[in-house]
Amino acid sequence: MHDLDVLIIGGGLVGSSLAIALDGSGLRVGLVEAAPPTVDLQPSYDERNLALAHATVNALDAIGVWAQCGAKATPIRRIHVSRQGEFGVVRLDAADHGVDAFGATLPARELGNALLARLDECRSLQRVAPAKLEALALADDVASARLATRNGAQTMRTRLLVGADGTQSFVRSSLGIECDATDYAQTAFVATVTPERAPDCAYERFTATGPVALLPLMQGRCGVVLTVPTSDAARVASLDDAGFIALLHERFGWRLGRLSRPGKRVSYPLKRVYAQRFVAPRAVLVGNAAQTLHPIGAQGFNLGLRDALTLAELLIAANGDPGDTALLGEYANRRRDDRDGTARASDALARWTANESPPLKLLRSLSLLAVDRVAPLQAGLVRRGMGFRGQVPRLALTP
Ligand SMILES: Cc1cc2nc3c(=O)[nH]c(=O)nc-3n(C[C@H](O)[C@H](O)[C@H](O)COP(=O)(O)OP(=O)(O)OC[C@H]3O[C@@H](n4cnc5c(N)ncnc54)[C@H](O)[C@@H]3O)c2cc1C
Repeated sequence: MHDLDVLIIGGGLVGSSLAIALDGSGLRVGLVEAAPPTVDLQPSYDERNLALAHATVNALDAIGVWAQCGAKATPIRRIHVSRQGEFGVVRLDAADHGVDAFGATLPARELGNALLARLDECRSLQRVAPAKLEALALADDVASARLATRNGAQTMRTRLLVGADGTQSFVRSSLGIECDATDYAQTAFVATVTPERAPDCAYERFTATGPVALLPLMQGRCGVVLTVPTSDAARVASLDDAGFIALLHERFGWRLGRLSRPGKRVSYPLKRVYAQRFVAPRAVLVGNAAQTLHPIGAQGFNLGLRDALTLAELLIAANGDPGDTALLGEYANRRRDDRDGTARASDALARWTANESPPLKLLRSLSLLAVDRVAPLQAGLVRRGMGFRGQVPRLALTP
C-alpha cells in the first residue's frame, strides 16, 4: 500500500524544482522540508548570489519559476577570468557565441521566493513542512519514511524516495551510501557591494589564497564571493566594513573603481562531498545530497537542477512504477557523464588555480591565453559552462 508515487525529502532549490517539474504529471508527489515554508527560515534561500547557466534559465522558465523572478535577474553577457600576478586573461563575450547571454545572476533569496510562490500553485502536491525525516525503511515495493512533524510522528509510504536533503543528507547515510569527501580548507565569504563603475561583466579572479568572484546584480550592485584559507577565516569575519573592502581591493584590484557599501556577510566552509552511488533500490539522490562542489565554477545548483529535471523527464515518460529498477538504472546512465565531468572540472579548477609551483604558474598563464585565443577550445568550455553537457534534459534545451 503506497500513499505516494514519489516522496522528495528536502525542499531546497533542487527538491522544490523537482516537485514543481512533476506537478500536473498525474503522479502522487510529496515534498518534506525541515524548515517552515517562508523564505526567511529556509536555509538555502540566503545571501548567496547565484550564477545561473543558460540551460538553467531555460529550465526555470519552462517550469514557470522564471516568470516570478526573471525581472530580478541580471544577464551575464561578458565574463573576465584572470589570475593575480600572472599574464593570462580570458575574455568571453556572449555575442561571439551566438547567444544574448551566457546565463544570469540572481540572489538565492529571490529564487527561493519564486519557488515558494510556484509551489503554492501546485495543487496536487502534498507539502509537509516543517517536518524532518527521522527514519527510513526499504522493502521490495515500498519505501517508508518516518517524519517528525509539529503534530508528532507521521509515516509516509512511497514507491520512490528522492533524497534532495543537501550535503549532510540523512537519506544518503540511511541508504548506507559512502562518499568521497575533501576539505578544501577554504572558507567563502558572500556579500554584496556597490562598485564606483557599474559592472557589465562577471569577474572570476584566482589568487594564491583562493578565488574571488564579482557578479553583476541589479542597480549597479555586485555579488561577491571571496574565498580565504580557513585558517584566516576568523580574522576576515572580524574585519569591519572598511577592512573587508580593503581586502577585496587587495585581491580583486580596482577594475571597477572604489568598492563600497558592503552588505551582510555570510561564510561557508568549502567541502567536496561526492556520493559513491546516487541510486539505490526505491531511492535516488539529487543535488547537493549526491554531490557538493566547490563554488568556483558556479555549478552546484545548475548541476542539481539537471539531476532533478532528468529524473522528472524519465518519471513522466515511464508512466509506470517510479521505483522500477530499469528506470533508476536509466537515470544513473543519463546522469553519469554530466555529474562526473562537472564535479571533476570544479575540483580541478579549485586545485589548479591555487597551486603556486613556478612551472604550473607558467602553464596556467599559457592555458588562459589559449582559451582566450583558440576559438574551438573556447566554444567547448562555453557550451559546457552554459549547462549543455551530456544528455541535457529537454526542459533545459530551449528558451
Ligand atoms: C558560496 C556559495 C556560492 C554558490 N554559488 C553558486 C552559483 O553561483 N551557481 C550554482 O549553480 N550553485 C552555486 N552554489 C551551490 C548551490 O547553492 C547548491 O548547489 C544548491 O543550493 C544545492 O541545493 P539543494 O537543494 O541540493 O540542497 P540544499 O540547498 O542544501 O537544500 C537541502 C534542503 O533539505 C532540507 N533537509 C535537510 N535534511 C532534512 C531532513 N532530514 N528532513 C527534511 N528536510 C531536510 C534542508 O532544510 C534544506 O532546505 C553555491 C554554493 C555556495 C556555498
